[in-house]
Amino acid sequence: MSQALEQSNSNWAIARKAASLFLPVAVLVIIILYTVYDRDRISVIETLTHEEKVVVEQQEKHFSRLFNNIIADLLVLSGHADFTEMLNDPDGDEIRHFYNITQEFRSFIDHKGSYDQLRFIDMQGQEVIRIDRNQGHPKIVSEEKLQNKADRYYFSKTITLAKNHIYISAFDLNIENGVIEQPHKPMLRIAMPIFDEFETRAGMIILNYLGHNLLNELEDISINSTGKTLILNMDGYWVKGLDSRDEWGFMFPDKKNLTFQSRYPNEWKTISTHKTGRLLTEQGLFSYTTINPLANGWQSSSGQYKVYKPDESDANLSNYSWKLVSFIPPQTYLDISTRLRTPIIIIGLVFLIIWGMYSLISSNAKVHREQAQRKLRQKDQRIREIVDSAFDGIITMDERGIIESFNPAATAIFGYAQEEIIGKDINILTPSPHQGTHDNYIQQYIESREAHIIDCPKEIEAVRKDGSLFPLSLCVGAKNYGDHWMFTGIVRDITEHKQMQQELEKMAITDVLTGLYNRGHLNRSLESEYRRSIRYNIPLSLIILDIDHFKYVNDIHGHPAGDKVLIELANELKKHSRETDIVTRYGGEEFVLILPQTNSTNGFILAERLRAAIEILSIKIDESVAIKVTISVGLVSIPETKAESADHFLIVADRALYQAKNSGRNRVVLSSE
Ligand code: GH3
Ligand code: MG
Ligand code: MG
Repeated sequence: MSQALEQSNSNWAIARKAASLFLPVAVLVIIILYTVYDRDRISVIETLTHEEKVVVEQQEKHFSRLFNNIIADLLVLSGHADFTEMLNDPDGDEIRHFYNITQEFRSFIDHKGSYDQLRFIDMQGQEVIRIDRNQGHPKIVSEEKLQNKADRYYFSKTITLAKNHIYISAFDLNIENGVIEQPHKPMLRIAMPIFDEFETRAGMIILNYLGHNLLNELEDISINSTGKTLILNMDGYWVKGLDSRDEWGFMFPDKKNLTFQSRYPNEWKTISTHKTGRLLTEQGLFSYTTINPLANGWQSSSGQYKVYKPDESDANLSNYSWKLVSFIPPQTYLDISTRLRTPIIIIGLVFLIIWGMYSLISSNAKVHREQAQRKLRQKDQRIREIVDSAFDGIITMDERGIIESFNPAATAIFGYAQEEIIGKDINILTPSPHQGTHDNYIQQYIESREAHIIDCPKEIEAVRKDGSLFPLSLCVGAKNYGDHWMFTGIVRDITEHKQMQQELEKMAITDVLTGLYNRGHLNRSLESEYRRSIRYNIPLSLIILDIDHFKYVNDIHGHPAGDKVLIELANELKKHSRETDIVTRYGGEEFVLILPQTNSTNGFILAERLRAAIEILSIKIDESVAIKVTISVGLVSIPETKAESADHFLIVADRALYQAKNSGRNRVVLSSE
């Protein structure tokens, strides 16, 4: 595989592994974070809507309470003693009663800050007593400034009411002298007819409530809530709106279209048709309720009073009940409900980045580790193949000498199958006298840490499974793996090698034709025997012999026949010499015998015996031909002869042979030198 291809494969493997690590956790984390976010969002929405609902309920209660207070105030004023006295006029002191009431009314307006006006109007619609709030202070309106209100709706509505009935006006803007007062003054008028002692209508008492107070109080209730308080009349006109310029549209011809409905048509459909509820749309969160303070009448502790109930014909019908809406705009609502979005996205991203980096780094490390392991396995496999196919036996063992592996070549050498030898002690492979030697090697090595290769190659004797012994060449290598050692023995059966070596050695010292020792061996042996003889003063004899007229044998019978004679003669020499004698072919048809520990006498006896034996020997060449030869023999002995060296010793013997030849052949001459 090319380097680039391998790299790209490994990158793919890293990417796949990193993705399989990263993705499940990433998806899980995203799901968890999203769930946390969504739960929080839902809980925030629930809390928010609940809060708004509570606010709206409180506002509704406050609204009702306020109406009750206003009605109570009106009843207190109408029941005032001076008022009754004035109408009945029993003592003719009308002026005094009038003055007292005026002062009383003035004091009332002074102390009850939420009222703008208190009036007594007679049956003709003429204001009789009128207290105005002027820049926060009560003001008794002078007689010439009193107006006739006979044409106003509150007059006509109230003047026809039965006793103990109360009229409550629509909640709208104050109109002064036919013009809407500026700045806007939201107003609620509450009135009741007054009867004299004969149950005759005497006029009406009418109290103007400052609507701002109500609106401000409702605002105060909602001060800590998220929503903005909206008040709508039943036609959807803003009484309290998002923009003050849109408010009170029903009172201005040019603002007839400025309604909640025109701004939030879909929402209005729901809000207008349900009494209470909450509504979440793209426009925002609307928590609403319907306020209808006149719905259930009103009852004081002193008796039953009825509140005027507007009927279908009342032009101001839609201004007797209201929709109280707490409104949270979409942005605010979104901001609150998604407050965890940014932190969760940041946490998520940070986590994903860290986790992504971790996945990549760990996958990278893992893939490289796996690649390294794969390469190691391949390498291992190759080594195993090499070991298995090796010609030499390879055996590994631990520091206790326990066999850990045994290759096929080792099996072929020792005859043990792998499964029967692994786990056994290495000593099983050596004959008893050598057992324990390996332990020594191992121990010695571990202690001394001398060399990696222990005594290599070493020839030892080994034992096969069948008990047969054989020579083994052994190399032992040691390797330390931190906490343990491994020893590897490379073994080779050297039986054949040994035999060949022995044969070669034998050939090196043997004469090919006769099988006797050759001249090289003669020289070496003579040298050592000579030295030994001199050093230890041991007798030594040397015989040199030569076949007489051998040339004729060759000439007459041929060279092969001559060879046969040489072979037979050699056999005869061996036959008559001792085990310790060294019989050699000196060259051609000359032979030398070294006779260790043999003095001249015994040497001569042997020489003579040889000569005699050859003399009578008949060497059969074929059916018809037999050859007879004689030999001339020279004999030399230590200590009789004082030879200076081994060579000299031989020369002396040769001279004795020369003498034997010269003195007639077929005889033994003992050197006289
Ligand atoms: P002498 O009695 O003086 O020794 O006479 P001789 O004929 O033996 O003379 P010499 O020793 O000089 O001759 C040796 C002969 O031996 C010469 C050679 O042909 C023969 N010869 C030497 N080596 C061999 C051999 O290996 N085989 C055969 N067939 N003949 C050999
Ligand atoms: Mg010769
Ligand atoms: Mg000869």
